[in-house]
Amino acid sequence: MSDVIQLSNFIAGNWQPSLCEHWIENISPATGEHIANIPCSTDEDIDLAVEAAIDAADEWAQLSLKERADWLERIAGALEERADEIAQLESLDTGKPITLARNVDAARSVANFRFFAEQGREFESEIFEMSDATNRVLYKPVGVAGLITPWNLPLYLLSWKVAPALLMGNTIVAKPSEMTPMTASLLAEVMEEVDLPRGVFNLVHGNGLDAGAPLTSHPDVDLISFTGGTTTGREVAKSASSGFKKLSLELGGKNATIIREDVDLESMIPGIVRASFLNQGQVCLCGSRILIHESIYDSFIDAFLNAVSDMIVGDPSDEDTELGALISAAHRDKVMAYIDLAEEEGGDILCGGGAPVGIPDAFEHGFWISPTVIDGLSPDSRCATEEIFGPVVTLHPFADDSEAIEIANMTDYGLAGSIWTQDAEAGSQMAEKIESGMIWVNCWLHRDLRVPFGGVKNSGVGREGGRWSLSFFSEAINICVKR
Ligand code: NAP
Repeated sequence: MSDVIQLSNFIAGNWQPSLCEHWIENISPATGEHIANIPCSTDEDIDLAVEAAIDAADEWAQLSLKERADWLERIAGALEERADEIAQLESLDTGKPITLARNVDAARSVANFRFFAEQGREFESEIFEMSDATNRVLYKPVGVAGLITPWNLPLYLLSWKVAPALLMGNTIVAKPSEMTPMTASLLAEVMEEVDLPRGVFNLVHGNGLDAGAPLTSHPDVDLISFTGGTTTGREVAKSASSGFKKLSLELGGKNATIIREDVDLESMIPGIVRASFLNQGQVCLCGSRILIHESIYDSFIDAFLNAVSDMIVGDPSDEDTELGALISAAHRDKVMAYIDLAEEEGGDILCGGGAPVGIPDAFEHGFWISPTVIDGLSPDSRCATEEIFGPVVTLHPFADDSEAIEIANMTDYGLAGSIWTQDAEAGSQMAEKIESGMIWVNCWLHRDLRVPFGGVKNSGVGREGGRWSLSFFSEAINICVKR
């Protein structure tokens, strides 16, 4: 018990427990051990944090964009100095491999602040001349921003919201997932370390219903940026809409990976495996349905299973590990229930389907599922159309491009997808017909932070990224002066 980390809320520059003094146990996904206690905050804590954010708002809003960009640069520098610690904490808290936590989570969290600092320096607001007047567009802060984030990429996604929100002059109340609180606390420590004015960044830990919901309905919160599941997103939208808050929803996905007949399998297989299983398949963009041209169906399966069977699953702290644990017992059980359902729906489990064999004793109480490949399901089955969000992919043959597109569009989601082909032009044409916010051709999760990021259909509302983030986190005001 002595090693259990005790986390606090960070409100108006002070570290404090929840006013109700209740705690939530944070569990290591890899071992099942109790690793931290976090405040089980309620509406009273949210009220305090919102008050602090309101008190800090005027002073922060009065800074120039350039001055706020300098703050982001300082935060990036301080985070970068703690990059190893970020990677360790993220791996401990999520069960993901340390190399992934280092190369993706820690690196991108720093990059997010640097990127938006740069965006701030380059930002120019528009002037529209008329024959007798000049229009000048002014980008004002929205006010208090409520930021709610999930557990799969904790600091990566939190910093993706915090950086543009601060840049555009908003003050923040952040509520990270109760399951992955560690690096949000580290970010608050960094804010304290760099002397960010008190109240500009506030952090309230807690679960969705007790702390998240009061944040989304709070009358003095002007904007909600939410990343999480579609069902929760629907509740958030209802709660935020009555107060006409600005709202961005980045939600779930059921993304198709399309393998055309002309694909160069040998060179593309590593990318396709990565798109299927990165972060144990717990990335909203992962390709969980693989659609394969019927003429290469069998050869694809052979090559894919070969590569998947080579993946190293196990100790997240081992530099060679490629797949770690799932986030929680409840999530592991949900994913296993889908694997059982796949069998009921007539699927054939080609590999995986349960805990990895031979997992060391230290991890026997963790939440593990080895990479699972399922064949033989109808493309409109539940397993092929509902988000599983785990290391599970289903395989489906198609006869031509139009059938592939039809299957790809057969879900209520529309987040991402990828197409693998030697004919980049044909892939690009095909991409236009897929109902998704983002499509990659011959790559996946190849990110330029300037481009729009977001989903269509049940995968979300609004766009973040580059100038879309700057626009979402500000109010564009037009001032028309007649000469
Ligand atoms: P989730 O259950 O929807 O939770 C997301 C966040 O919302 C958590 O902080 C959660 O708190 C909070 N929350 C829960 N109920 C709430 C409520 N009624 N009001 C306000 N906040 C509430 O999602 P998750 O399981 O953490 O994350 C997985 C999902 O996120 C997947 O569907 C995945 O596709 C999606 N995702 C989407 C993107 C994207 O960019 N589109 C990126 C990453 C993940 P607690 O966890 O403390 O309950």
